[in-house]
Amino acid sequence: MAKKQFKAESKRLLEMMINSIYSQREVFLRELISNSSDAIDKLYYKALTDDSLSFNKDDYYIKIVPNKEARTLTISDTGIGMTKEELETNLGTIAKSGSLAFKKENEAKDGFDIIGQFGVGFYAAFMVADVVTVVSRALGSDEAYKWESKGADGYTIVPTEKETVGTDIILTIKENTEEDNYDEYLEEYRIKSIVKKYSDFIRYPIKMDVTESKLKEGSEDEYESVVEEKVINSMVPIWKKNKNELSTEDYENFYQEKHYGFDKPLTHLHINVDGTIRYNAILFVPENIPFDYYSEKYEKGLELYSNGVLIMNKCADLLPDYFSFVKGMVDSEDLSLNISREMLQHDRQLKVIAKNLNKKIKNELQSLLKNDREKYETFFKSFGRQLKFGAYSDFGANKEVLQDLLLFYSSKEKKLVSLDEYVSRMPEDQKFIYYATGESIDRIEKMPQTEMVADKGYEILYFTEDIDEFAIKMIMNYKEKEFKSVSSGDLGIEESESQEKSETKQNEHKELFEQMKKVLVDHVKDVRLSKRLKSHPVCLASEGDITIEMEKVLRAMPDNKDVKATKILEINPNHEVFEVLKDAFTKDQDKLELYTKLLYNQALLIEGLPIEDPVAFTNDMCKVMV
Ligand code: ADP
Ligand code: MG
Repeated sequence: MAKKQFKAESKRLLEMMINSIYSQREVFLRELISNSSDAIDKLYYKALTDDSLSFNKDDYYIKIVPNKEARTLTISDTGIGMTKEELETNLGTIAKSGSLAFKKENEAKDGFDIIGQFGVGFYAAFMVADVVTVVSRALGSDEAYKWESKGADGYTIVPTEKETVGTDIILTIKENTEEDNYDEYLEEYRIKSIVKKYSDFIRYPIKMDVTESKLKEGSEDEYESVVEEKVINSMVPIWKKNKNELSTEDYENFYQEKHYGFDKPLTHLHINVDGTIRYNAILFVPENIPFDYYSEKYEKGLELYSNGVLIMNKCADLLPDYFSFVKGMVDSEDLSLNISREMLQHDRQLKVIAKNLNKKIKNELQSLLKNDREKYETFFKSFGRQLKFGAYSDFGANKEVLQDLLLFYSSKEKKLVSLDEYVSRMPEDQKFIYYATGESIDRIEKMPQTEMVADKGYEILYFTEDIDEFAIKMIMNYKEKEFKSVSSGDLGIEESESQEKSETKQNEHKELFEQMKKVLVDHVKDVRLSKRLKSHPVCLASEGDITIEMEKVLRAMPDNKDVKATKILEINPNHEVFEVLKDAFTKDQDKLELYTKLLYNQALLIEGLPIEDPVAFTNDMCKVMV
């Protein structure tokens, strides 16, 4: 029998293939099972168009048989089989896909899910096998042929016997080496787990004899090993099922089976799109924060399937960072895959899908906010921070998507409110959306700066997270209302008569303030009469883009030690302290200096800013005492 040579550069190509196309060896099984599935599909398709053939679904299956003694792994199918010529062209020519040709010949037939297209998957078998033997009998033929190859060396084809139509692929598994374990591909549990991982949703049953330990009949404690043929794939992908037939429990089971998380999903989304790009997706929002979520280790992404075959474990491009908490999968028949089927060739389809999913996730969250507030708040407590980061990053490019999903604690409602809720109940004379920043709700409630705004009856949003104010700065305004910190220099509140009076008062005491300003010349830009204080003697306000709270956050980061807010010391003219200051100004300049410093340091303390010179501060305190 004459050995035939692979055509053209086949030898080199084969070697390259075997060693470099796939990142994981275990995918050889995915490739062979996909081929078997295609072969059965073709038979099914033929039966649809040829009345003389009947297709009884139960007769069509894939069977895997590991044999440790013989060191073989056999993958058999009851598919269409191959003639001698087909064995030669399809398996003797690398990058020749009989399946692609079949698809082209039978074009425009819907619901036809042939997987193969590149004509290389079969050779993945050589990643784990020294010898690959294919025994096949084609539909409508009495003859069977055996194709055999040891890889780059070439192949042989000889006649053989086979009782039924279909194909057996027999792999003689390689011996273990020091680095590599090949024995595992003969282990039941390993085969089962590879099938589960990549081929769980192949539409035909994948059968295997599975050994289980069972109670001996008539005995209570004696077990015996029982071998039983089992179907080891789930076959029907849940995402192809009708939504109406599925219960929440089904989705929860899927979430658990897929190990998307240890918790239960808070909500799920089942999407079937039949547009220019067809895809199905099931997405979940987890209930709990994954333990590594806010760390660099966390990898976002969705599982990507092509025709029910897993292509990518975590396709990051399907999710924007701000929705990185979403788990789930996408299956599409319209993806152009690269040759290893581990990556996409063009990301155009992917971009369309991603854009689409983005919209759907947003809508889902928004309807959750509207219809199930409690659930939404649970979600927001876990992932709200991520949404705020999203609003902040890329210079606010995503604010349109995210601003309606944000919640902040409200001074009035004493609970979380949305910006929409805030704006919709603003009194007519209120021009701004007011917020106060601080370490905790408790501390903000005690902030002197909130007095005036609260007194006006305006609602204040409490910002307790570092990111809050930064996110808001990027959003800039909501429904044409700008955001304003209660600590900002100008509060933008219509001035009442008494306040106008304070303007005159400011002028009356101009020299006093000038004097105080001189004392604090290195620390504040100005000293002024306050329009926002009611019961507290002093506070700090800021001017310009960087607020005091932002100064704190920024300075806590490396390289930002010099960031400073422009501060203004505000004095309450209605407080007794003001009288004391006036008195000192006329009678005792040293005292004025002492009091000014004390007041400034108190204002720092209230803000939660460090006192620049604590020793000097305590000495000053002592001076007041003695
Ligand atoms: P692809 O599946 O991308 O076409 P493969 O290298 O996996 O490429 O397979 C090459 C060709 O060999 C297939 O297109 C198909 O025509 C044929 N083939 C492979 N396995 C089988 C099988 N089990 N039954 C029938 N034909 C097969
Ligand atoms: Mg293939």
